[in-house]
Amino acid sequence: MLDKKISNYEDSNIIDGKYLSSKLLETLKEDVNKLKEIESDIHIASVSIGDHGPIERYVRNQKRTANSIGIKFSEINIPDNMPESDIRKSIHLLNVNPTITGIILQRPVPEHLSISLLQSYINADKDVEGMHPYNIGQIAFGKYKFGPCTALASVELLKSTGIKIKGAEITIVGHSNIVGKPIAFILMEEGATVTVCHHMTRDLNKHLLNADVILVATGQAKLIKGNMIKNGSILIDIGINVEKYKNLTRIVGDADFESCSKVAKWITPVPGGVGPMTVAMLMKNAINLVKN
Ligand code: NDP
Repeated sequence: MLDKKISNYEDSNIIDGKYLSSKLLETLKEDVNKLKEIESDIHIASVSIGDHGPIERYVRNQKRTANSIGIKFSEINIPDNMPESDIRKSIHLLNVNPTITGIILQRPVPEHLSISLLQSYINADKDVEGMHPYNIGQIAFGKYKFGPCTALASVELLKSTGIKIKGAEITIVGHSNIVGKPIAFILMEEGATVTVCHHMTRDLNKHLLNADVILVATGQAKLIKGNMIKNGSILIDIGINVEKYKNLTRIVGDADFESCSKVAKWITPVPGGVGPMTVAMLMKNAINLVKN
């Protein structure tokens, strides 16, 4: 039995990201108010490049969350035919603007642009997403004050279960720069034995069945089934996939929730797990940048 509540679902093994993020946001609101008392406003500039239709809902959600805790949020939309050098200048203007305290570069960017290059143009001390090479490097050195939001959110949800991370066998499926790799560094630093799998891993099942904890971020709907994981393990599902359901579509994770939730001791739902906590972590990063 946990000594703190982690879910609004009665008697379930669900790690409720919606509930836990709302609790975190309450604390963050207090932080924002304290900073306002010393005249430190927090103001995020969100930069979208090209057709921002597909991410409109996501950005709107970020703005609503920011405003709900007293953080200003401005949207900047850049056309996809703007030369890279001009995009760099636009980011530079935000870097030197003293009223802007944090910058988010919304993903995806048009294919002809390099997201990691654009990310490096953002000042490390305004990097709300924790994706600047300097900030990623700090993660590798175990000295980070902020980091990639989804990675931090996943670790936060894992810790809410009260698990002892030191010595735990943890398998991460997916090794992208923004999710799998930073999670691996963070958990290694915390003393876990970390195995990182990807699409060339020879025997994924072996690594899954050995794991006390599985974090999955592959973008492959329902890749992980209940019979692939150890009884009593913890499953953090980071995937967001659109699946056809009857005549409609619905969002599902990289794990098959129905079968996995019968085997796992704790599991995150999709939606309502890592997603809401990721947005809360963006806000936490934005606040920590100003505190620093
Ligand atoms: P990427 O496509 O960048 O990376 C996917 C990773 O999964 C790669 O390392 C790939 O390996 C691995 N992979 C793909 N297929 C398999 C397979 N069959 N078996 C084992 N490994 C596999 O994706 P992201 O990391 O950006 O995103 C992953 C998922 O997480 C997506 O569903 C995305 O929508 C979601 N996401 C959710 C967020 C949230 O806030 N909840 C935020 C960011 C992402 P390889 O490189 O070898 O091909």
